[in-house]
Formats: sequence, structure tokens, C-alpha cells
Amino acid sequence: MSATLYWLRQDLRLDDNPALLAACGSAALLPVYCHRPARDSGWDFPRLGRHRAAFIGQALDSLRAALSSRGSALCELQGLPEIVLPALAREVGADRVVCERIAAPEEEAEALALRQAGLQVCEIWQSSLFLPEQLPFAIERLPAVFTAFRRSLEQAGPQPLPPQDAPAALPPLPAALPPLPAGWTPREPPARTPVAIEPRSSFPYHLPACHGGEAAARAHFQQYLARGLPHRYKATRDRLYGVDFSSKLSPWLASGALSPRRVWQMLKAFEARHGASEGSGWIGFELLWRDYFRFLHLQHGARLYHAAGLSALPPPAHDVAAFQRWRKGETGQPLVDAAMRELSASGYLSNRLRQVAASYLIYECGGDWRAGAAWFESQLIDYDACSNQGNWLYIAGRGTDPRGGRRFNPERQAAEHDAQGRYRALWSTA
Ligand code: FAD
Repeated sequence: MSATLYWLRQDLRLDDNPALLAACGSAALLPVYCHRPARDSGWDFPRLGRHRAAFIGQALDSLRAALSSRGSALCELQGLPEIVLPALAREVGADRVVCERIAAPEEEAEALALRQAGLQVCEIWQSSLFLPEQLPFAIERLPAVFTAFRRSLEQAGPQPLPPQDAPAALPPLPAALPPLPAGWTPREPPARTPVAIEPRSSFPYHLPACHGGEAAARAHFQQYLARGLPHRYKATRDRLYGVDFSSKLSPWLASGALSPRRVWQMLKAFEARHGASEGSGWIGFELLWRDYFRFLHLQHGARLYHAAGLSALPPPAHDVAAFQRWRKGETGQPLVDAAMRELSASGYLSNRLRQVAASYLIYECGGDWRAGAAWFESQLIDYDACSNQGNWLYIAGRGTDPRGGRRFNPERQAAEHDAQGRYRALWSTA
């Protein structure tokens, strides 16, 4: 029987990974991760910045250890998946690739290219709380407004499927594992991007508590629950800085070190023990936003990446010089500049400041929302194609906002959320 490649994408975990479990039925299995070559965003900076590269490196180190403790290994390849995976499959005698399905256009194109290269590709949807087939409507009928989506789910009452435990053991590696070319590393990890030590960070991933691996992810949420923080979530979620004002689940959800269904199960167990509150319920709403943007991608695909998005608006203008000032934190607007410094220095930004910064680029700097989205892609440790694109479109009035876009007044936001100027003082320097 021939071997299977398990292609790890944004599911860097063993826990609750149905696609990996499906691949475990193979007689021989090689788990593989592809590091794409450095790519330019099209706006003159790299697509993958140092924070996410370092955080993913941490997740891969953990995964490598977890796989080898189960009799397997992690093969890390340098190159485009559509090039290196068919070559690896030939080397090890594999004819099948199993992976998670990602509804974003580039990721869909990668899977198609593998099929065109002659591989059998089995993609399994697993990155959302709900599966598309659990929705009470066909994907073409996804409500155009989030609140209608949430209400229709609440009325129909489906529950996320229970998470599945990690496999106790994995199938053996292919017997024909040859000496692989340089840079293909099933036994040794490649050099990692160094982590940035930034004590001001709201997500200090240089500390063990925010390490990229799946054990740290779960421990983080466990301590968040044990301290009763969900009850305070609604009251604190619009704060600008600090580790505890929001759940900080997004980096692990984005890399896939943590599954949303595991989060849901832990949250529901917390509510069963300590009572549900407005705060704990609100975390669930936010996870539904994440699902919503995934389903929106299933519905509209590449259209979400066009200048107009879902609107009939003309292409946006783009003031290059103003965009450069924005991304460097040199606009002269103190709250926006502090936010852009924080983003570059730490890879994280609160939701409120993401909204303020995005609005400022679009409505005050005359910048193209797609350039802003690309900058966030480059810088964010928790970059997720569906959530990033969905939120930028929303603020630009080219997505699903029933109010046709969100314009935030930075002075008013500073007065409301940073009355003492502490946040602006904290990030007054790069
Ligand atoms: P919490 O407030 O604790 O929320 C819990 C979880 O719910 C989050 O981890 C996240 O998975 C989900 N969530 C919360 N808010 C949103 C939202 N608006 N949209 C989708 N999911 C949400 N989030 C990303 O994960 N990746 C991105 O690339 C991303 N880009 C964004 C770009 C812009 C312009 C804006 C306005 C928001 C963006 N968000 C993105 C959404 C949101 O800002 C982050 O998910 C959140 O700040 C992460 O911090 P947290 O985990 O503490 O969130």
C-alpha cells in the first residue's frame, strides 16, 4: 500500500484534528510542512513578517516533538507546496495528500495545483466551530449581515461537534524515506526566525506562557478560565493594552495550534461550573464572527479580494506617501501612530486599535484598504486570511457592514479608551 503525505497548513496541532485522524488510516504517513519562499506583498514589503514567522517556528518545534513522541516525524520543506509536495511524494512513493481545507483563494489554488500534478488530494474542513453542513441554510444563502447569521444559528440550535483527542500513535514513516535534498528536514528543524523580546507587548510570545505550541495554547486558555476572566470579557474587551483584557486566543487559532471546538468545549465546561455570564457568552459571539468570515469566503471566494469587494464602489484611491507614513507610525495622529508602532514591534494589536488604524488609513489617509490589509498580513502574529480580509472589507464599506463602513474618530477614541494617555505614552517610541 502506498504512503500518504499529511500536509500541515493552518492546523499545527495533534488535538482535534479530524484531517490528521483521517490520514492516520494510512499504512505509512509522512507529516509535512512547507515554508514558502519569501514573497513580496505587491506593496513593497514582505508578506510574512518576523513575528508570525517566529511564532509559527515555535508551533512547529512543539509539533515536531509531539510527532516524534508518537513514532512519527515532521518533514519541513522550503518551497511552494505545489512544487515541493509532488517532488516529495515521488521520493517517498506517496500518491495521496491529506490536509485541511482552507476556503481562501490562494489556498484553494494550491490544492488544485497538487491535483493537477497528479496527486490525490483529500481536503477536510475543520477550522471553524460549525461545519458548513451544520448551517441551517445552503452556503449561497449565507445571511449578508452577521447578526442575521448568528440569530439563524441560535434558532436552529446546532452545536459544534465535540473535539477529538490527539491520536495516541501515528502510522510509521514511509519505508522509502530517502536521504532528502538539503533544506528538507525530517529529522532536524531548520533555522528559526528569532523571537522578538518586547516587554510592552500585549501578547509577549517570548515568554513560555505565550509560546506558539499547542500545550501552551491550552494552558493559556485554562488559566484564563481558572481566573474567571470570561466574566469580565465584555467589560474589558475594548481596552487597548495588557494581556488579560481579551482572551488572546487569536494567535493560536490562526496557526491552528488550538482548535475552536476545543475552545468552545472548555468555555462551555467553565459556564457549566461557574455559570454563564454576558462576558462568557460574548466570547462565543466573537468566535462566531470568525466562523462567519470563513463561510463568507466559501460563499464569495476571490470576489472578496477585488478592489470593490462585495460593493459596487469604484476602486479606492491610494496615496503612497500617506500609506508609508501610516505603516511607519508617522501620521502625526498620536493614537494611530502608537498603534502602528505597537503592531510593528510586537505583532499584536487590540481589536479596537485595529479598527481605528484601518479606518484612519481608509478615510483620513486616502489609502487603499488592500494595502492596509497586506500590511496587517505582514505584521500580525494572528494573521488569518478570512478574518483579516473580512474585517478590512467591513470597515471599508465593501463587505458585510449594514451601515456601509466604519469611520472612527481617533480623538474621540483616545478620549474614551485612553483618557490618561497611558497607551500613547507606552508606545510613544518604536
Ligand atoms: P477576543 O476579543 O478575545 O475574541 C476571541 C476570539 O474571537 C478571537 O481570538 C478571534 O478568533 C475571534 N474574533 C474576535 N473578534 C473578531 C473579529 N472582529 N473577526 C473575526 N474573529 C474575531 N483576527 C484574526 O484572528 N486575524 C486577523 O488577521 C485579523 N485581522 C483583523 C483586521 C482588522 C482591520 C480588524 C478590525 C480585526 C481583525 N481581526 C483579526 C479580528 C480581531 O481584532 C482579533 O481576532 C482579536 O483582536 C484577537 O484578540 P483576542 O484573541 O484577544 O480576541
